[in-house]
Amino acid sequence: MSPTFLAQAVWSIDLDALLRRGLRGLVLDLDNTLVDWNQRWVRPQVREWIQAAHHRRLRMCILSNALRARRVLAVAQDLGIGAVVASGKPFPRAFRRALALLDLPPEAACAIGDQVFTDIVGARWAGLTTILVPPLSPRESPHTRLIRLLELPLRRRWARRALAIDRVPAPPSHP
Ligand SMILES: [Mg+2]
Repeated sequence: MSPTFLAQAVWSIDLDALLRRGLRGLVLDLDNTLVDWNQRWVRPQVREWIQAAHHRRLRMCILSNALRARRVLAVAQDLGIGAVVASGKPFPRAFRRALALLDLPPEAACAIGDQVFTDIVGARWAGLTTILVPPLSPRESPHTRLIRLLELPLRRRWARRALAIDRVPAPPSHP
């Protein structure tokens, strides 16, 4: 169930480290990964990181379970990347749809998301490399907030392992 890597945020993910591992594409969660939950506004840091990924010829698409497809497509268009809406994560067929869009095999793609039981478990199941990020903001659906209670012990356990793929090492945590 554990992710391949942890990162402090999408914009801290070391893209060159992904390229060195032979990864050519990114399957990106939308809500609380690229934008705040249920919002369209893209933080400048996220925008710059996506630009850096474009520059490195990484193929990208959003894979989202969000209910309003128009918002998902608007963010995807804004960032110049593809999108799979009403994706049906965590089921592997959702990730297979994203891989078809990217035209990549699972071993060449990396899924990035803020939810363990949809973004990470589903992607691992489909054979992708995975990176778990913390949610961008505490605002989210009541359903997700419940799921977070189940994530918490897992996140604590993984944080103790050396899974970080940030460009700048995370500051040491307090004892
Ligand atoms: Mg999310």
